[in-house]
Amino acid sequence: MSAPLPDHIDILRLARQGSKLVGRLSLDGMARFRQGILLQDDIVNTDQKPVLKDVLQEHQDIGFANIELEFGEDDEHNLFINGKAQASVYMTCQRCLEPMLVELDVSFLLGVVEDEARAGRLPGQYEPLVITGKSSSLPEIIEDELILSLPLVALHEVDQCSASTLMTSVSAKGRGKGDGQEDDKEENRLNNPFSVLSTLKKEGKKH
Ligand SMILES: [Zn+2]
Repeated sequence: MSAPLPDHIDILRLARQGSKLVGRLSLDGMARFRQGILLQDDIVNTDQKPVLKDVLQEHQDIGFANIELEFGEDDEHNLFINGKAQASVYMTCQRCLEPMLVELDVSFLLGVVEDEARAGRLPGQYEPLVITGKSSSLPEIIEDELILSLPLVALHEVDQCSASTLMTSVSAKGRGKGDGQEDDKEENRLNNPFSVLSTLKKEGKKH
């Protein structure tokens, strides 16, 4: 099992030194991310699902993100963080409303700047990370990336979903009506609290 990472890091120093950080971070401090996933307590308290309780106890990585961060400075003196985050979380399947395991695996390239004006001048491959002061919260940085990597709608594979029999009969009935499924997708997207953030991020990248 990998070592826990510090909560606060001096990004400018790490980037100038070309440092690397590898380890794991607890999801406990990531309140916004935790709104999008099922917490251990949510699942264990559901007495109808004793099986999941066992799964969670065996699954040591639940509740943590495995992180790999490379800090550096490019030829144009832009400081950057090239990172990866992996986490196994539970979400509610929107078809059967039972918990399902979702493996998150996200890569990101952050351009580190000290003010918004410089963020606008970063080369296009960098997602701006504006930092203030010497100490930055590592969980906050990782949390943003994990939120963006969450699926907008969690669904079991059809053959693993306990509502799949129901779904087959519903879709057979609905056939001929055309675009009903698209409407559902749109509605799910609008209801997802993180969809706003992902839209913002996409728009930000165009500049
Ligand atoms: Zn399901």
